[in-house]
Amino acid sequence: TVPASGGARWRRYEAKLHAEVLDRMQLRTDLDRAFAEDAFQLAYQPIVELGSGRTVGFEALLRWPHPERGMVSPALFIPLAEESGLIVDLGAWVLRTAVATASRWHRERPQDPMYMSVNVSVRQFRSPEFVDQVFAELARSGLPAHLLTLEITESLLLGEHEQIHADIARLRAAGIKMSIDDFGTGYSSLSYLHRVPVDTLKLDKSFVDTITTSAQQLDLVRGIIQLAAILALDVVAEGIETEEEHGLLFEARCRFGQGFLFNRPLTEADAHTLIAKRE
Ligand code: C2E
Ligand code: MG
Ligand code: MG
Ligand code: MG
Repeated sequence: TVPASGGARWRRYEAKLHAEVLDRMQLRTDLDRAFAEDAFQLAYQPIVELGSGRTVGFEALLRWPHPERGMVSPALFIPLAEESGLIVDLGAWVLRTAVATASRWHRERPQDPMYMSVNVSVRQFRSPEFVDQVFAELARSGLPAHLLTLEITESLLLGEHEQIHADIARLRAAGIKMSIDDFGTGYSSLSYLHRVPVDTLKLDKSFVDTITTSAQQLDLVRGIIQLAAILALDVVAEGIETEEEHGLLFEARCRFGQGFLFNRPLTEADAHTLIAKRE
C-alpha cells in the first residue's frame, strides 16, 4: 500500500502533469489560430565578421507575440509546431517573408550584398515540396541564390540519407548556401562532415559559453575551427556576449559570429536602419 503522504505527493505530481498536458494542448490551438490570423513576426539578428565588425548577413528568427503570454520562445513553440505539422506551413511563411525582406534590402543597396539565413526544421525540409518552394521564393523575389543560407541541424542528416543528400545537392547546385546550426550538440559531429556538402558551421552557443573558463573547451573549439578550415567551411560562432569571448574566437581564427555583444535580434525596421546608415 502507498503511504498517505506518498499518495498525496503522487496526486500532486499527476495534477501537475495533467496541467502541463492541457497547457501544451492550449498552446497548440493558439499556434494554429495565430497562423490563421497572420500573427507571427520575424526578427533579424546581424551576423558579423569578427575582424572588422561588419555585418555580413542576418538570421531570421520567428517571434510569436501571444495575446496573454507575451512573447513565447521559439524554443518552446517550434517543437509543438513540429509535432502538429504546422511547421511545414509556418516554415514556408518564414522562408517567403525572410526572402522577400532580403530581396528588398538587396534591391535598395545592390552594392552592399548581405545574406539571409533561414532556419529550416527537419519536418519542413523533409516535406516533398520544400526544395521547389525554395526555388519558387527566389524566383518570385529576385533574390540571388547565393544570398540565401538555409540552416539545418545535424539530426536531419541522420538516417534517410539519400533523399536528403540529393535535396541538399540540388539546393547547392543552384547557389544556395547550407549551414549546420547548433554544431557540436548533435551526435554525429566531426566524422560525417567530409561527406555532407555544406558551406558553414554554426558553432553552438554552449561552446562559446565555456571558452573563457575552460582551457580544454577552448582547445576543442580551436580544433573545430581548424577542421572547418581544412574542409573549407565557414564558421559562425553563436551567442557571443562578451568582448573576452569575441577576442578568443577571433584569435582562434573564427571568422564570423553573432550575439548580444553585437546586436540582439532586431525588428525589420531596426535592421533596415542599421543597413541604411552604413557607408
Ligand atoms: P538558433 O537557430 O540557434 O538561433 C539562435 C538563438 O540564439 C536565437 O534564439 C537568438 O535570439 C539567440 N541568441 C543570439 N545571440 C545570443 C546571445 O548572445 N545570447 C543568448 N543567450 N542568446 C542569443 P531564439 O530566437 O529564441 O530562437 C531559438 C531557436 O528557435 C533557434 O535557435 C531555432 O532553433 C528556433 N527557431 C527560431 N526561428 C525559427 C524558424 O523560423 N524556423 C525554425 N524551424 N526554427 C526557428
Ligand atoms: Mg539558427
Ligand atoms: Mg543555432
Ligand atoms: Mg543554438
